[in-house]
Amino acid sequence: MDYDSNNIFARILRGELPCVELYEDEGTYAFMDIMPRADGHHLVIPKTAARNILDASRDQLTACMHTVQKLSRAAVRAFNADGVTLQQFSEAAGGQEVFHLHFHILPRRDGVELRPPGIMADTAVLREQATRIVDALN
Ligand code: 5GP
Repeated sequence: MDYDSNNIFARILRGELPCVELYEDEGTYAFMDIMPRADGHHLVIPKTAARNILDASRDQLTACMHTVQKLSRAAVRAFNADGVTLQQFSEAAGGQEVFHLHFHILPRRDGVELRPPGIMADTAVLREQATRIVDALN
């Protein structure tokens, strides 16, 4: 399957669509998920084109994993979480809806189920949660 450079996350990377930004380094970008399934649910993506885990390069995966760990630690601190769930879906059959490689980071509390998918969050709430995660990075 080919990479479609007009997917939503490619457009976010190019600044064509807004997002609630969290973190950026040479190889990766992170922002809040617009339909969060947990408080602090956010996404890490490579800055370069990769459709999903099946075509990603070693360098893209290495860069993403470093950022995933950094942000997981910050999110656990920010939300006083008991753990973290990582999700990655590849191809439609694997549950993927946006075809630019991304890793979901979901802070988890003991006994608290994930919310159902598809519920849009208030941008002000996402901004407040992003601030908490960014503050916990430092
Ligand atoms: P997946 O491809 O992993 O199944 O799901 C894509 C994820 O991207 C979903 O969790 C969805 O809420 C999120 N998402 C879809 N469109 C947007 C968007 O425009 N902005 C942001 N920040 N997240 C989005």
